[in-house]
Amino acid sequence: MRANFSEIMESIQGEGLLVGTRQIFLRFAGCNLRCSYCDTAWSLSETAECRFYPKTGNRNPIQYIKNPIGIMQVAELIKNFSSLWISFTGGEPLLCADYIRELALILRPKGYKFLLESNGTLCEQLAVCISYLDMISMDFKLPSATGRNLWEEHRCFLLRAREKPGYVKIVITAKSSCQELDRAVGIINGIDKSIPLILQPAAPYGSVHAPLMEDVLKMQEIAMKSLDDVRVIPQVHRLINLI
Ligand code: SF4
Repeated sequence: MRANFSEIMESIQGEGLLVGTRQIFLRFAGCNLRCSYCDTAWSLSETAECRFYPKTGNRNPIQYIKNPIGIMQVAELIKNFSSLWISFTGGEPLLCADYIRELALILRPKGYKFLLESNGTLCEQLAVCISYLDMISMDFKLPSATGRNLWEEHRCFLLRAREKPGYVKIVITAKSSCQELDRAVGIINGIDKSIPLILQPAAPYGSVHAPLMEDVLKMQEIAMKSLDDVRVIPQVHRLINLI
């Protein structure tokens, strides 16, 4: 079995509940969405080569690995990294749900644990591999970010995802509104109010502007009225200049 990757590397996890944890990132190529704040545009489509960074946290040196890449080749590429946490990220990793299941089956006996970082829209594909995951990071995409209403896709995904430990993350930009945040919170609350919610202020990128912190705090207060655990966490790896 083979899959297309845009990057393979080791760094610290810069987002969500596992922030600061050393992880190996398998960044799949290809995505079913086009978010305004996407900061991995090079991962939206399949490419001929995957960039492999053998030095932890560093974009230099780079090795170029021909796509698609087989499961045993991935195991070989990551064997010298020290982390036993693997993040399936992208792009949208669930476009390769069968591959994730097979890779996790082969690597689990070596002691690896698996985090899925997903855009939270492909609940049928989640069912293919959920039993092999240790934690799920689900993005909740607000209409202001995608130009689409994904409420039902997110509800379906979260209903399945809650059988594993995890959290929901919402990226807040200058265009995010309290009304759409409130609707997202209502969906999470309707499923399980103890699911942690991370509000992640967007970093300025292209035409995307960072939100005012007073607006982010207001959104946190709105969410705290319905949910037990609402945290504001920026992208930490960017603050300390790691990939
Ligand atoms: S889901 Fe993720 S990878 Fe896909 S466009 Fe949105 S931010 Fe980018």
